[in-house]
Amino acid sequence: MTKTTRQQFEFKAEMKQLLHLIVNSLYTNPEVFLRELISNSSDALNKVRFKQVTGEKVQSPKLPAQIKIEVDEEKQNFAIEDTGIGMTFEDLTERLGTVASSGTMEFIKQLKENKKNKLDGNMIGQFGVGFYSAFMVAEEITVETRHADPDEKAWRWISDGKGTFDIEEAERTQRGTRISFKFKDEHKEFAGAERIKQLIRKYSNFVDYSILVNGEEVNSQGALWHKNKKDVTDEELKEFYKFISNDFQDPLDHIHLAMEGRINFKALLFVPKKAKPDFFRTENLKSVQLFSNRVFVQEDCKDLIPEYLRFVEGVVDSEDLPLNVSREVTQYSPVMAKIKDVLVNKILGMIEYWAEEEPEKFRTFYEEFGPLFKSGLNSDFANRERLTELLCFHSTKTVETAGEHKNGKDQKKADQAEESGEENKTGGMDDLVSLAGYVERMPDTQKEIYYLSGDNLDELKRDPKLEYFRKKDIEVLLLADPVDAFVVPGIGSYKEKPLKSIEKADLDIDDDTEENKEKVSGDALDKLVAVFKEVAGDRVENVVPSRRLVDSAVTLTIGKEGMDSHVERMMKMMDQDTGPSKRVLEINPSHPVIQNLSSMNEKGDTESVKLMARQLYEGALLMQGDLESPGEFVKRMTQVMERATKHS
Ligand code: ADP
Repeated sequence: MTKTTRQQFEFKAEMKQLLHLIVNSLYTNPEVFLRELISNSSDALNKVRFKQVTGEKVQSPKLPAQIKIEVDEEKQNFAIEDTGIGMTFEDLTERLGTVASSGTMEFIKQLKENKKNKLDGNMIGQFGVGFYSAFMVAEEITVETRHADPDEKAWRWISDGKGTFDIEEAERTQRGTRISFKFKDEHKEFAGAERIKQLIRKYSNFVDYSILVNGEEVNSQGALWHKNKKDVTDEELKEFYKFISNDFQDPLDHIHLAMEGRINFKALLFVPKKAKPDFFRTENLKSVQLFSNRVFVQEDCKDLIPEYLRFVEGVVDSEDLPLNVSREVTQYSPVMAKIKDVLVNKILGMIEYWAEEEPEKFRTFYEEFGPLFKSGLNSDFANRERLTELLCFHSTKTVETAGEHKNGKDQKKADQAEESGEENKTGGMDDLVSLAGYVERMPDTQKEIYYLSGDNLDELKRDPKLEYFRKKDIEVLLLADPVDAFVVPGIGSYKEKPLKSIEKADLDIDDDTEENKEKVSGDALDKLVAVFKEVAGDRVENVVPSRRLVDSAVTLTIGKEGMDSHVERMMKMMDQDTGPSKRVLEINPSHPVIQNLSSMNEKGDTESVKLMARQLYEGALLMQGDLESPGEFVKRMTQVMERATKHS
């Protein structure tokens, strides 16, 4: 580009939509524009400070690191200027003009569908478009910037936020960015120096660079994590959290650490109340920022926090790291490993505390971040036991008693617990049970912990595989979160009780005999089993008389090596089809149909028996969504009905 040309660019479609929303009255809190701009300047200063510390050459190296704000009440003008990293031409076109977060489009859609739901100005930051909040208060914005790299040029960017932006070369010699605009009439109050100072004290008091308003230094605190715990107010913590996370809500809880001794570091960590819209695209998460003695090092330091705890946001600052820390250093440094251990320990400690003492918080956390958190069972082996204790599930007992008064037996237990001052681990969470809670109410005769996994709780509740367990009053955990099916089988056993899916064939359960005296047995049973074997052929692993069926005639269970049907379906969805594992066909010797079939078989009506046996087998396949040819199934059903209606 030559010096005189001015080029026009178009915003991407989603950016236009978002700008339209921002500018057209769907917002409620315009004052956050200042926090967003200061936050961008502070990030930019962090980045250039790091460059300097690591010996890279920068433009105007002697410039003090600061943020200057100028307001002119009469002219309604505003300008913010930093001596940060600045922006290249690519930064201006690619970063400033795009929606960084993939959750944004989903969010816009929701807003449009539900007009009542106003776009709170506060929410803007979390979509990675903080800069654009300035269009709430300004008609047109000018950005002048020069990147710290001495080879880069200076640029001017101008836009009215409606559809296009212009870029031209500028005269600026010093590095950094200046953003200026005139306030719209309805927002001219922000042009008052006192008003701006008040907002800075409210939102940005702890920014680690001096902020000057019309030449006067306003903020005094500096890095909040360096302050003594007792000198930090709740308000400051909340604002700090919002500042670093772009969240608009208060955090759920926080940890403020100052470790001294073997390793030295300070940390201020937060757990959000809600996952961000694009939370599961973890590459977009900021998580924990690393500082080395107040110098910003890394934005999203993955080596400090294991993947399963990445809902935590905050800062960690250690003097024990060399100043020229690089990615390689953080990855292999023993100091980092030690800090990580301490952080994990503290975070788990906080979650354990919630589980014991603040069930509401635990619940909020578990619902928001449970799936990610649980994945830790498959990665953090050192803390496996602690993580296992924190697992919670729905179960046949919790879903049936939730909201109602506890039945006699549970009430007795609850009373006892109250007397002994013991608290139920899951506190006010009647509809969930921990493994400890499950084992506690297990009768002595029960030797295994039972679970059933599936796509959703309602379907699980209706699953016929639960018949036997309901009848025998045996509790079954209902695993409705997809992650459960991947982590629970891996636990193996808890307090020496094996965890078993009730879909499996080899359960240690009693025969359901006494109540059903009449049943097919002996030679007749063997013969009938043989017919089923012939019909199902090598599509099943085996055919056995069932000990657990109550109302159904047949069911399919899973052999020792097989995967739960639900897991199998998920693998299939993820294109990891391992082929269906072979099932065990269980038949219920006391069911009238099986009894009738047996007498037909004894009489030698083999053809009809085969037809119906096949029908029963395929009916079971149909139930679990594995029937391949419904056409033939229906055709055979018609044949069966034809026979049944013949003599009437
Ligand atoms: P976010 O800060 O969440 O990424 P913004 O829309 O506020 O979203 O900013 C987009 C990008 O523009 C930033 O990530 C940064 O690269 C760049 N940027 C914004 N303000 C500045 C600034 N003052 N100095 C340098 N770069 C900036």
